[in-house]
Amino acid sequence: MKMQFIDLKRQYARMETDIRQRMDAVLAHGKFIMGPEIAELETALAAFTGSSHAVTCASGTDALLMALMAQGVGPGDAVITTPFTFIATAEVISLLGATPVFVDADPETFNLDHRRLEAAMAAVESANPDLHPLPKAARDPKKPLHLRGIIPVDLFGLPCDYERINALAKKRGLFVIEDGAQSFGASRGGKMACTLAETGCASFFPAKPLGCYGDGGAVFTNDPDTAECLRSIRVHGKGNDKYDNVRIGLNARLDTLQAAILLAKLEVFPDELEKRRHAAGIYAEILKDLCSALATQKVASDAQSAWAQYSLLAPKASQRQDILSGLKEEGIPSAVYYPAPLHAQRAFASQGMRPEDLPVSLDLSQRIFSLPMHPYLKDEEIRLVGEALARSCEKAGI
Ligand SMILES: *Cc1c(COP(=O)(O)O)cnc(C)c1O
Repeated sequence: MKMQFIDLKRQYARMETDIRQRMDAVLAHGKFIMGPEIAELETALAAFTGSSHAVTCASGTDALLMALMAQGVGPGDAVITTPFTFIATAEVISLLGATPVFVDADPETFNLDHRRLEAAMAAVESANPDLHPLPKAARDPKKPLHLRGIIPVDLFGLPCDYERINALAKKRGLFVIEDGAQSFGASRGGKMACTLAETGCASFFPAKPLGCYGDGGAVFTNDPDTAECLRSIRVHGKGNDKYDNVRIGLNARLDTLQAAILLAKLEVFPDELEKRRHAAGIYAEILKDLCSALATQKVASDAQSAWAQYSLLAPKASQRQDILSGLKEEGIPSAVYYPAPLHAQRAFASQGMRPEDLPVSLDLSQRIFSLPMHPYLKDEEIRLVGEALARSCEKAGI
């Protein structure tokens, strides 16, 4: 059978009985909206991460949106994030009428470069683009935007340096929302991803490290008031009951069926994380021997990635297509996350940013590619990928 980039069928083959039993229980009790599996899952997710509260929701995007709504983000506000991420991270800022301010990525970790944060913060506060590139809306010195917070993204499953980011945010009274859509199950400094900042957001999209069979997400917080606010936002801004509406909210509930599936999958998730780490270790060994010219994502010594993706950099942008074509010819699936940084996307054209304003993200987007990664990759398959990659590199003149 053809190798899969992410093999959900092998996972299902392992867990079919448990998943079906869990789903059958929901079909039998019929509580499809906010059924008992929701509370059971939230308790299990909170225990797994060590967070006081887990509030499930309909997607990772809704998790980010709810977290920003709980902070009261709106027009006139600025929120700093990375341009080297999935559109959802910045989209939610814009949806609320606020302005995303992009800060370039680190060339080694691919995550938001915290060394650039102070300059970016000062630039927003003084509406001075000489200090750091700013979007048009943030360049009016008569009306500087109100800098509210930061959304760092744990790209490909690797947690950012929150010790530094949280400290910088605290000095200025900014919130930090961890976009852990790719890093659920990862850890840094002994703390689990999605608990590394005051609020954390997970996605349970099928292809994420912990995925359901549709859309799903969760917000994590230790603050009981924030948790209460998130539970209200999730159901149309409900107060004491759903016809008592105390704020403008969303319909952002997780389906009971998806919670049931996640409960079954959470049982084996720690073992799957081990398997992902094993696969990443084998990749690193093989690539060191066969294609040492390809750079990998640098993992800090106190970090454990969830390995949502295994990504590499071609030495030159012009070589990536040759590598990917070579892999395709040998039946090895690959992907490019992400082919364009957000500040260079049409959706953000009104920001008036030039692609070269954030050169690291631009460069990464032109050289990066990802190899098959999932818990059910066999060692010999990883070797096959490595050998095919070595031949492709040779053809690409690397
Ligand atoms: C997947 C993803 C999201 C959005 O999650 P959905 O569940 O697809 O809405 C947000 N941020 C990042 C970094 C992601 O990878």
